[in-house]
Amino acid sequence: MARLLVTVGRSDAHRLGLHRGYTDALERLSHQAILLPPGLGGLEDIEGIAKELLGLGDALLLTGGGDVSPAAYGGDHASAKIYGIDEDRDRLERALVLEARRQGLRVLAICRGIQILNVALGGTLVADLEEAGYANHSLTDQEYVYAHPVAIAPHSRLAALLPGVTMANSLHHQAIDRLAPGLEVVARSPDGVIEGVEADGVLGVQWHPERLIDSAPIQLNLFRWLAEGIETAPSS
Ligand code: MN
Repeated sequence: MARLLVTVGRSDAHRLGLHRGYTDALERLSHQAILLPPGLGGLEDIEGIAKELLGLGDALLLTGGGDVSPAAYGGDHASAKIYGIDEDRDRLERALVLEARRQGLRVLAICRGIQILNVALGGTLVADLEEAGYANHSLTDQEYVYAHPVAIAPHSRLAALLPGVTMANSLHHQAIDRLAPGLEVVARSPDGVIEGVEADGVLGVQWHPERLIDSAPIQLNLFRWLAEGIETAPSS
């Protein structure tokens, strides 16, 4: 049984928010979730705190939520579509990403997670996909089922974990713009939006596998990879 550190957002001024699919997926695989509230990011010595927190678990799961602050990636994007900025959460998650990379802990980054992952490692984001000329990726009517095509690079870790998968759900209005050094793009939607990235010990997806575990249980493989370290050497 593995212990997974799972980041949590704020749903309003008084409540935390986390879709239950994340912990359901881990529990379905008999693993433990340790939830990390965003307020930890407001404490001093965030690097020291990140180091201590990662010492409590075996791997890091970055979950969905509101937008990453443009200030975190040097953007002065004034898009009116940007919502849910939480500087504490940004600060905590950036420190966790960097420390996890230092310690060699696995990272699975989902939706907002792939975005903060990219920002933490030096990349940027598209402030709003439709404003930038891409399709609408906020397909809320199909939250729990596949909603748009996704092309996964054949020899990627992601392809090895999700054989035959050609679709994703889609609940985002931002995506990776400039890719961070060290990450590789391994999945895109038909309009060219980056839907998956990877590196040694890192997987990021722009879709929501935690909401597909009933309609497409193969998506549980992403959580298996995170928790169990199953071998995903690219097939030749
Ligand atoms: Mn999408």
